[in-house]
Amino acid sequence: MKTRIDYKKLKEWDHRYLWHPFTQMQEWLEEDPLVIVRGEGCYLYDLHDNRYLDGVSSLWANLHGHCRPEINNAIRKQLDLVSHSTLLGLVNPPSAALAKKLIEIAPEGLQRVFYSDCGATAVEIALKQAKQYWKLKGENQRVKFASLKGSYHGDTMGAMSVGYSESFHQYHKELLFPCHRILPPHIFRYFKGMSEDESLKASLVDAEKLIVEHGSSLAAVIIEPLMQGAAGMWVQPSGFIRKLSELVQDSGALLIVDEVATGFGRTGKLFACEHENVCPDILCLGKGISGGYLPLAATLTTEKVFSAFLGEYSEHKTFFHGHTYTGNPLACTAGIASLEIFEKDNVLKSLPGKVSLLEQALKKELSSLEHVTDIRCKGLMVGIELAKEKISRCAFDPQKRIGKRVTEHARTLGVILRPLGDVIILMPPLSITEEDLLQLVQVTRTSIQEVTRKA
Ligand code: PMP
Repeated sequence: MKTRIDYKKLKEWDHRYLWHPFTQMQEWLEEDPLVIVRGEGCYLYDLHDNRYLDGVSSLWANLHGHCRPEINNAIRKQLDLVSHSTLLGLVNPPSAALAKKLIEIAPEGLQRVFYSDCGATAVEIALKQAKQYWKLKGENQRVKFASLKGSYHGDTMGAMSVGYSESFHQYHKELLFPCHRILPPHIFRYFKGMSEDESLKASLVDAEKLIVEHGSSLAAVIIEPLMQGAAGMWVQPSGFIRKLSELVQDSGALLIVDEVATGFGRTGKLFACEHENVCPDILCLGKGISGGYLPLAATLTTEKVFSAFLGEYSEHKTFFHGHTYTGNPLACTAGIASLEIFEKDNVLKSLPGKVSLLEQALKKELSSLEHVTDIRCKGLMVGIELAKEKISRCAFDPQKRIGKRVTEHARTLGVILRPLGDVIILMPPLSITEEDLLQLVQVTRTSIQEVTRKA
């Protein structure tokens, strides 16, 4: 299908009016933007009808492919009823129906759904709920948070405070609240040269020390489970979240699990928590919750947390938080349709085969490359770390922009990837075919070879 949109005009509008996220705009303004006009299955199409494999699920969100008829039709139907009405003082059928479905599939104990529009707001809500919870329980000293060092929870103030990244958030440091940092296993494994087992133990010792020392003042501990994503795709050894959750439980603090990235099948199970039977007090969901179609997020809590907010209006226990599009009916409709596809297509059953094919292909095609120093993989989440020296992990000069250049090369071969510095991210839709998975790995290999050969 050819479109009649004028590329020159679009480029001019983009360059004159838009400010892109996580983008050095000076660099952007020197480049020709890739204009995506439509999607079908795991492919995106540009203005000239060139197709690109969506190797990062449109920022880790798309699950079942673009333009899925089931989701499109459900949204169209809802569009003819009402596209938005508020959850402040009203309810709509899709928001209630999706809440019921989410509670049915969520880890045990979670009973209530609070909607918002993006991962960062899901986290803000979790932090505020945790903080207010303890105030309402009369434990006024529980005002602090602990998180994993180098975790990422979004770009709003609270999310930046708990998920601080020097390179992303340094300009806002003075505005952020202090947060205790637990050293996660990868810090011991990769930066102190320990074995996986030793790193697991060392991290848990660090966590225990911190939690014992500060436990009584902690409102909550927040973690990204199994894989610390946006900070570099760091996989946690098995047993880590189970043990950490026990330490948090012993301290009496709440456990917030941020599954914005790992939720909805990404790690091979519906939720990463399920791998280790962890039941958080608060769970943050986003990205794939609407199948990757519309902005939607949710913060789920246990009845224990929820019931602390109940009382007469005059008791001032209300959770005074909300967003205009909270519980948007179109987004919730997409969420319901997406969960129906999980059932209808037996999506979770299809994952182990794809995951092992991906792991094998990555090992076969990439592990021997001169500049691939590490391949970190959990389910359909992959980080391929590139370095100047394979063994010592000595990094490339950041000015060389190796990661960015690899993704640019992949684009010329019809694949969309994203870099996190010199870590190349692969995160295809769950619906990707085996053939396309192999193509994704092959193009990644060629692009790495081509760019690092000249580096
Ligand atoms: N939490 C995690 C674990 C994430 O990976 C992200 C986004 N990559 C966020 C929160 C923030 O989500 P959003 O970009 O939708 O605000």
